[in-house]
Amino acid sequence: MSAATTRSRTARTPAPDRLCAEAVDLARAAAEEAAAPGVVGEHVAVVSEGDRVVTHYFESKEPGYRGWRWAVTVARASRAKNVTLDETVLLPGSDALLAPEWVPWSERLRPGDMGPGDLLPTEAEDPRLEPGWTGEDEPLPNSAVSDVSQELAALADAEDAELTTLPATNRGSITSVAEELGTRRARVLSRYGLGLAADRWDEEFGARTPMAQAAPASCVTCAFLVPMAGSLRQAFGVCANEFAPADGRVVSLSYGCGGHSEAAVMPKPPKPAPHALDTMRVDTYALRPADDSGSVPAQPDGSTEDLGHS
Ligand code: SF4
Repeated sequence: MSAATTRSRTARTPAPDRLCAEAVDLARAAAEEAAAPGVVGEHVAVVSEGDRVVTHYFESKEPGYRGWRWAVTVARASRAKNVTLDETVLLPGSDALLAPEWVPWSERLRPGDMGPGDLLPTEAEDPRLEPGWTGEDEPLPNSAVSDVSQELAALADAEDAELTTLPATNRGSITSVAEELGTRRARVLSRYGLGLAADRWDEEFGARTPMAQAAPASCVTCAFLVPMAGSLRQAFGVCANEFAPADGRVVSLSYGCGGHSEAAVMPKPPKPAPHALDTMRVDTYALRPADDSGSVPAQPDGSTEDLGHS
C-alpha cells in the first residue's frame, strides 16, 4: 500500500530528507512512465512520510481526473546517497472529481429493473425469508407427534376418502397441514418480509392515497374485492374491477375508489303500469247533437244544418 495513502498524522512528522526532496526529476520520470505522455503537470508539493521517505506530488492534466495528483514516493537507505523509487500512484486531491460511492448491485436494484430471462438470486440469510416446512423434519415413526398424525390420517381416510385427491398417507399429517397453510416450501416469507410487502402495497394502494381519500367507500365493503390467503388477508385483498385503477393489484382494505360496487348503483328504468280494464261495455256516442239540445242553430227555413256529413 502506498506510503502516501497510509501516512499517519503523528504529532511529529520529520522534516523531508534533503536528498529525497531534491529527487524531483527522478519522481517526475517515474510519474511520466506510469501516466500517458504529457499528462504530468507541475510539481506541487513534497511531503515527508518518515525517515528518508518522501512523496512528490505532480498535477494531473488528464481531463477525466480534474483535481487528482500523481504521487511518487522515493526513499533512501541509511547512510546511502542513492535515492530509489518506492511507488507511483494517482491520488485524489481535496477538490478532485470523484465517482459516487460504490453501491452493491443488490442495493442498486429497483422495482421494474428485471427483464425477461433475468435471474434475481436471494441471499442464504435474506431477512425477508425464513425456513418453511419441507418434510425433512418429519417426526420419527414411533414419536408422539407421529402417533397423533397417524390417528388423524386414519380418521381422514375413513371420513373423507372420496373428497380429496391427496395420497392417503398425507392426509391429517403435519405435511398436509403445512400444504394447507402454504408453508410447504424450502423458505417462506418472514415477518420482516411480510412487513416490507405490506408497507409497499399500502403506500401505493392504501388509505393515505388521494384516490382513497376521495373514494365514496372503502374496498372492504366492495364486491370487486377478492380476499387473499394467509395472514395478509386481514389487511389486503385483490381488486377485480377492470375499470378501477387497481385492477389486478393488491389493495389495502382501507383503500377505495369511485368504482366501488355500491357507490353509485344505477336505478332501474321505471316499468309502465299494466293496463286496467274496468269495463267491457260499449259506449255509444251520437254523431250530431239532438235538435233540442240547444247547441244546433235554427235555420231560417226551419230545417237544421247537417253536422254529420261534410
Ligand atoms: S373497485 Fe375500487 S373500491 Fe372496489 S375493490 Fe377495486 S379499488 Fe377497491
